[in-house]
Parts: sequence; structure tokens; C-alpha cells
Amino acid sequence: MIYSVIVDISASEIDRIFDYKGENYQVGERVLVDFGNRKTEGYIVAQKDKTDCPPEKLKEIIRSLDDFVAISPELLNLGEFMRREYHLKWVDVLRLFIPAEMRGNRVKTLIKKQACLSNVSNLDEVLSSLKPNATRQRDLVSFLYKNGATFCVKLNEAYGSSALKSLVSKGIVTVNSMTVRRTPYSNLIPSDSEKKILLNEQQKAVDKVLADRSGKFLLHGVTGSGKTEVYLTVIERIVAEGKTCIMLVPEIALTPNMLKQLRNRFGDKVALLHSGLSIGERYDEWLRLKNEEAQIAIGARSAIFAPLSNVGAIIIDEEHDSSYISDFNPRYNTIDVANHRAEQNGALLLLGSATPSLGSYYAAIKGELTLIEMPERINKRPLPTVEIVDMTEETRSGNKGVFSELLKQRLAETLNKGNQAMLFLNRRGFSSFLMCPKCGYVAKCQDCDVSLTVHREDNMLKCHYCGKKYYMLSKCPSCGYDNFRQGKIGTQQVVDLLKTMFPSVKVLRMDADTTQTKESHGKILEAFQKGEAQILVGTQMIAKGHDFPKVTLVGVLDGDQSLHHSDYLATERTFELITQVAGRSGRDAETGTVVLQTYTPTHYCLQLASKQDYKSFYKREISLREAGGFPPFSEILRVLYLGENEKDCIDELTSQYAEFTNLKAEYSTEFLYMDKMRCPLKRAEKKFRFQVLIKLTKRSVNDILQNIYSICDNKKRNGVQVFVERNPQNLS
Ligand code: ADP
Ligand code: ZN
Repeated sequence: MIYSVIVDISASEIDRIFDYKGENYQVGERVLVDFGNRKTEGYIVAQKDKTDCPPEKLKEIIRSLDDFVAISPELLNLGEFMRREYHLKWVDVLRLFIPAEMRGNRVKTLIKKQACLSNVSNLDEVLSSLKPNATRQRDLVSFLYKNGATFCVKLNEAYGSSALKSLVSKGIVTVNSMTVRRTPYSNLIPSDSEKKILLNEQQKAVDKVLADRSGKFLLHGVTGSGKTEVYLTVIERIVAEGKTCIMLVPEIALTPNMLKQLRNRFGDKVALLHSGLSIGERYDEWLRLKNEEAQIAIGARSAIFAPLSNVGAIIIDEEHDSSYISDFNPRYNTIDVANHRAEQNGALLLLGSATPSLGSYYAAIKGELTLIEMPERINKRPLPTVEIVDMTEETRSGNKGVFSELLKQRLAETLNKGNQAMLFLNRRGFSSFLMCPKCGYVAKCQDCDVSLTVHREDNMLKCHYCGKKYYMLSKCPSCGYDNFRQGKIGTQQVVDLLKTMFPSVKVLRMDADTTQTKESHGKILEAFQKGEAQILVGTQMIAKGHDFPKVTLVGVLDGDQSLHHSDYLATERTFELITQVAGRSGRDAETGTVVLQTYTPTHYCLQLASKQDYKSFYKREISLREAGGFPPFSEILRVLYLGENEKDCIDELTSQYAEFTNLKAEYSTEFLYMDKMRCPLKRAEKKFRFQVLIKLTKRSVNDILQNIYSICDNKKRNGVQVFVERNPQNLS
């Protein structure tokens, strides 16, 4: 038999299928093959009877790498779709489907030794065969009699290793090896959440979803409307019917909370998949899904590739979130992939959000998704009142600080009542950059064209793009001035200010810096949930999803930060962010307050976000998009050129641009815009960055895309990487 194999070689330009011969392999298996003059791992993607490869060159597959088929035919199909749609290399797609550490055999199943009594019928008989003074052995036997099989490690700790050894040699105790599954967050405390009786709106939503098992739905429910309970009920029904489910949340930070609720309801039917787990945990959770020991996969975007068969439902919470769009290789849109996977499985797709993406809501209006609305909070709890503070007024009246008078007052009131507050800042670190006030010098990373961030904990400068660290500067390297000023305020500084304002109050901070270690997200949130701190300061990580009943105040310190980005998504992103943070306030009995500090208080985006008025925002924004010809009314493509040699990048860009120009002439009515330029982020990780931006009508997108992809494939310079992004969320 002939097998088509994709060899797993990283950083290679090869995206070709190679034929090998062999017997009794299966499509989707990982195998070891000879490639060039070395042995390489590969994936079988097809089998056939004949090959064009001359017989003297046709090599034989060496062996299988696993004792199971790693990639199911269904996932292989999904991979085909992704290659076509996003112009990806096979190997990059296939790698999404297995835990990274399976490659190169870097992960082992955990085997532990376990002891039990060889014959459990009669304790007294066993004990009488032991010497009366052999207390440890006697105790051990009694323990096993009572507790059954126990890990040897535990027995050795309690009774010493010689007791166990002699019992084994007498044949009284038997030891055997067993595979142990490593479980992430095994110490999550189950919460009260008994099954809730669905309220009317929730029941209607569930009924509507379950009425069409292969339907596509958009659940638009305001923050606190009880969407989670809808998801859980749908999952329950689908699993009861013998099918499996995938549940996605946008960030690793949100997984512990959802995991807890899923485990409460479904126990070890649930497996967690995300990159924050340890190697062993990730592998074991993946295997549990693969072996059908678990039926429900939950995780961030990569969990869409969970190795489940017979998927009955895919649920994507906070579907508007930009993290569902991968903006590094392999680039893909999780919602589109989910859509395809749902279709392949005949599964239902349920997208949920308080602020659906404009594109999804538009699709719902057009009837491509079934719209389900839950416009009210549970038990008609009021939405929080939002007070907008004009920070220019504040500055004019002499308050140059970070906190407006109103926010200080509301904070004090909240703390006095024994309630909790969350303060939101759209940045991390102590301050965003270091600038010389005399000559304007800004400290930058040597490898990336971005300013360095001051980190006070270790008094270092860090690049947030590549992670490189630099010593703090005491003097300006450009003019010698020695009184550096730190740029804008960051989370750390807010924490310090709070400590001086409210010395007895405990403050927690959550941002990319405090969440680098495993499970740290969960720990910070757990501590805040338990009331170990009264204030939580954070970046967008605290903006969404969380449900803290004691929070009655949310402060947004820089409400217009994200409004000033220059791309067409800026207003949509800001609206989402403000609505989401505001939604954290007053979720329990007491009404919440939100203080929104901004320099542009009358902007329609902030005005409508403060009322959580999604529909008015949608109407206004969608008409602007239509007038300007932006997505969803057009398709934006970015072709990215990355390389360490600037001239090579420019040459490649120039020659491909000439071909794009020919294409544009051919499809002159479809090209709305095309230009080439340096990226706003000029250099990152030692690579120069250039781009071609193209805006197309929706009419012949697929034809034009295939043409663009083949132009990119015809790249001449090896040191330059070319990527195409469809409707990118991030144009840096
Ligand atoms: P959303 O995800 O829509 O923002 P949640 O699912 O977090 O909202 O629900 C908001 C709050 O309402 C939670 O505290 C949840 O426990 C509670 N809740 C949800 N459904 C019910 C119900 N049927 N009965 C009572 N409380 C509910
Ligand atoms: Zn850098």
C-alpha cells in the first residue's frame, strides 16, 4: 500500500506530500520515516494504490509512533478546509491537532505503583500470620483492608518502605502499575451551583436551540442574563444523547470559572485544553477526550481542535472576542473553523455574547444565524448606573491625578459598605514607557520597534513583544539628562496609589505580569471571590466573564484609550470593553455603579456603552461600515512580509506587488483599495515588517484569494516569510 505523508519539519518551506510504502497503517497515524538523510516524524494524510514515485526511490515507513490514530479523518477534513481557506501549510495545521509535546516523544504517560491485599477474604487470618511485634506491617495490612488499593508512595510515607517490601515478599500484598491521569486544577473548590431552575427567558432560549440540532444560533444576552445556565443545559441534553460538546471561552483567565461550573454538573466527563497546563496535564486531558473517557472539552481557542468524535454542540462564549482570531502562524478564525466543524458533524453551533461582533449580528439580521435575545438580567436586576467623568474638566479644576474626585468618593463608599470594587486599566506594567523629558528620547527594544515598559518589581525594562529584558536607565543615553520621566500610568502604579489612599485595604492585581505562572489566574480570582481583597486592579483580563456578587463598583480609568487606535475596529472594541467591564458591577442583590473616566465624554460610543444600548450602537456603526465599505460589507486582506534582511523584504514585496497590480487590473471592479507600506510595528523579533493592504468587494473573494495565494507561493527569497490574513483584528 502507498501512503501520503506530511513530514514534520519545522521552519521548512516544504509543504509537499511524500509517498511511502508500508502495510497496515491508517490515515491519520503518526509515523517515523526516512527523509533525506535522517529519520523524521510524519503524518499519514492519505492512502492509495499507485504512486508516481519511481520504485527505486520509494522508501518504506519505518514504524508507527503511537498505538492509536492521532488525527481522526474528521479533523483531517477540517485541516483541508483550513489550508484552503487561510493558505496554511499542512504541517502547521496538523500540529494544531495534537499536544505539542507528543512530537519528538517528549511526554510520557504517568505510571504509578499501587498496592493491594493479595487475598482480602479474612483480615484476622492474615494478621495471625504476622509477628505480633511487626506493628508497621500489621498496620499497613489493616489500612489496606479498610481502604483498598493505595499508591505505594503513600504507604511508604506512612509505614516505611521495608514494611511494604516484606509484605510483598511474603505474598500478602501485591503491587501493580497503573496509568494515572494528571488533572489540571484538581483542587478547584466546587461552588454552591446546584442545578438552577431555568427562568422563562432561559427556557425559551434552550428550547429554541434544541429544536434544531444542526442549527446555528446567536444568543445575544445582556451581561448577567444567565447565558451560562443556557449553555450548561444544552450541553447536558447533548451529552445525554451520547454526543460530545466543545465549549470555548476567550481567555485562559476565564477557564477556571467555567471549568468549575462544568465539573460541578458533569464531573470527570469534562476535560480542559489550553496552553497554560503542564505538559503532562495537557497530554492526559487530550487522551481522555481521545479515548472517550471525557465527552466535554472546554478551553480557549485551540480547544476547537479537541480530539472528539460525534460532536453534537459547539458553544462559543463571548464570541465577539478578538482572541478567537489567531494573529500569528497559523492564522485562522475560530468562529469560521467552528462553523465548518459543526457542519461536518451535523452539530449545533451556539455563539453567545452581550456585545456580539458586528459581523455576527449582521449575519443574524440576514438570517444566517438564528437570533435569540435575552434582554434582561436575572430576576430583573437593574443594569448598573454609569457615571461619566470628563477628565479634561478634572484637570482644569486642578486634579492632575489618576483618580477623579467622583471615583475616590465612590471607592470610599463601596469599601465602607464592605463591598468590593474592580478598577480597569487597558495596559499593564508600571508605566508604558520611559521618556527623557529634555530631548524626547524613548527607550526602545533593540530587536523590535516598540518602546520598552518599566517594571518596578525587578527594576527592569521589558519588551512586551519579545520578552527581552534590559537594565533600567539612570541617565538618558542620548543627552545625558538624569531625571527620566515615566510615561503613562500602569496597573502597578494604581495599586501603589490605592495603598496610600486606603492603607488598610487589600488590593489584588491581575495582568499579564502577575499571571505568568501556572494556575495563577485561578488563584487571584479565587482570592478575590473569597473576599481576601476588596479591590481588584487589572487589564482587559478582568473585563469579561467573571461573576463576583460582592462587586458593586467598577472604575474605568482610561475609557477612551482604545478609541484612539486608527483602525476601523476601534469603536467596536471600545464599546465591547466598556459594556463588558460595566457588566461586572452589581450582579447580585445590590445595584452596581460604574465610574467611566474619559477625555471624550460625548462620544456616541461611550454614551451608548454606558447605557448598554447595543442595538443603537449596532445601527449607528453598521451604517458607518456600509458607507465606508468596511467589513462585513467588504473583505480586508493583509499580506505580511517578515524577514531579518530589510532589502529582501522590500524586493519580495515589490515584485509581488507588481503581480497584485496585474490582478487588480483584471478584477478592477472588485478591488476597492490596495496599497503597500511598512507595518506600524516596523520590526519585531529581529524581523522587519512590511504589508500590502487590500480591500475587496464580497463578490469574487474566493477566486481572487486563490490568485493571491499562488502569487505568495511563488516567493523568490528564502529569508522572507509571507503570510495572508483575512479580516485581521490587529493591524500593527
Ligand atoms: P451572563 O453569562 O449572561 O453574564 P451568568 O450566566 O453569569 O450571566 O448569570 C448571572 C447570574 O445569575 C449568576 O450569578 C447566576 O448564578 C445567576 N443565575 C443564572 N441563571 C439563574 C436561574 N435560573 N436562577 C437563579 N439564578 C440564576
Ligand atoms: Zn523586543
